Amino acid sequence: MNMLKSFENRDGWIWMNGKIIPWKDANSHIISQGLHYASAVFEGERAYNGKIFKSEEHTKRFFKSAEIIGMEIPFTHDQINKAKYELIDKMNYKNCYVRPLAWRGGNQMGLSTGESNINVAIAVWDDWATYFKIEDQKAGLRLITSPWKRPAPDTAPYEAKASGPYIICTLSKEFAEKKGYHDALMLDYRGYVAEGTGANIFFIKDKNIHTPIPDCFLNGITRQTVIEMATSQGFQITEKHLMPDEIGNYDEAFLTGTAAEITPIKSIDDFKYNTGDNTTTFKFMNDFSDMVKNAS
Ligand code: PMP
Repeated sequence: MNMLKSFENRDGWIWMNGKIIPWKDANSHIISQGLHYASAVFEGERAYNGKIFKSEEHTKRFFKSAEIIGMEIPFTHDQINKAKYELIDKMNYKNCYVRPLAWRGGNQMGLSTGESNINVAIAVWDDWATYFKIEDQKAGLRLITSPWKRPAPDTAPYEAKASGPYIICTLSKEFAEKKGYHDALMLDYRGYVAEGTGANIFFIKDKNIHTPIPDCFLNGITRQTVIEMATSQGFQITEKHLMPDEIGNYDEAFLTGTAAEITPIKSIDDFKYNTGDNTTTFKFMNDFSDMVKNAS
């Protein structure tokens, strides 16, 4: 698929409110609470060899996200699970990114939600074979610390993959890219290291792996998978609050996310990390790649 082609103007199909419809007809009116107030939740999933990795976990998080922001999705888990596969089949994909979205529509404007209608759609695309450019994913990313922080748990619902808080990620990403970096490291409201703009972060020193405690940001499904995988390989994983001046104590660092998968980090601000074929990160990338392709 042509990379320059906009996401709106494509051929293909989208599942929307219970039906598979032509991609170009999957429109929503501009008067909608989802668009104006970011009253929306979404998922990001990947299918490998025709099978969505951790599909059930993603569907559960989708419903949980909606529940946390007070939205009732008018479909069952089963219907969403089936819809994802129907759509992948219809699009004839084996490997693709899967994007379920639920948003408050235009039955009501303003901030009241009592009369709101809920729309649900699923789109799939195959452009994101890698989320970062393949050469950057191989060589490692350059990150810069963002001036934008992950908010406190009583400021934003951090366990929901809700659209609203993503403006913090967008601002951080824009800050990094304008300065010539690939991505940003976000700290949290207390000043602890939190995560990348769309991915969790890990640090490695020998057999020890440290990762921030997900107490104000998403405990990613990939993060949990990597923790299990590394533990089963004999690594010692510690979830801890990490101060920015500690990130120079590690040999390697990497990001994890459904889109990012496992992506090595070459530097954060002035700290440099090992990258390349001899690193633990490289081994994890290969192991993860085998795992997702062979998951049944
Ligand atoms: N943090 C943020 C801000 C994200 O957008 C994502 C991607 N969903 C993650 C972490 C990683 O989550 P997962 O591994 O479940 O994709």
